Amino acid sequence: MSLLILHNDGFSSTFFRSAKILTKAVVDEEDIDDIIKDIIDEKSFSPKTVKLRSKSENPTSEGNSASIQAHGKSCCPVYIGGSSTPHGIGTNISQRTCDQLRCTACDFHVSHYNDYQWDKSCDYLFFRNNMPDLSKLRVKMIKKKGSRAYACQCSWRSIDELTDLRTDRQLRWVCGKHVE
Ligand SMILES: [Zn+2]
Ligand SMILES: [Zn+2]
Repeated sequence: MSLLILHNDGFSSTFFRSAKILTKAVVDEEDIDDIIKDIIDEKSFSPKTVKLRSKSENPTSEGNSASIQAHGKSCCPVYIGGSSTPHGIGTNISQRTCDQLRCTACDFHVSHYNDYQWDKSCDYLFFRNNMPDLSKLRVKMIKKKGSRAYACQCSWRSIDELTDLRTDRQLRWVCGKHVE
């Protein structure tokens, strides 16, 4: 808390200085009065005031995040699975496998190939050099009915059964959101 107070005082004085500059340029006297009143209010450190202020200061960014939420849904939990498991948005009651996986370690989209598994000789360099070029990946893909071969540029899995990604702590794959 003491740290916060120090910062706040510093912020206020900078704000006063920039407010003075603003007077000359665009903002009229009334606005400055409001700004100063707001700063004085903030000094009382009422958490409610601070919260309200930050909300009204950022109407655009709030609107943006709301629109992203409206256009995309995330899997929770995130499932991967064999070739017979349906794709879609995974939930506890609808166990669908995510087809919008993204790797937070290499920042690649996770590709998947139905009825294939990865050859045992696959290694990090193979995917590093060949993702996402299917013609090159095919060299180490083995046909296996019911399996699904998943890979990003740094990790790979051959999956036969529905798997909750939380049980695989090595993977850094997340749902990249589904657009409806
Ligand atoms: Zn998903
Ligand atoms: Zn990766």
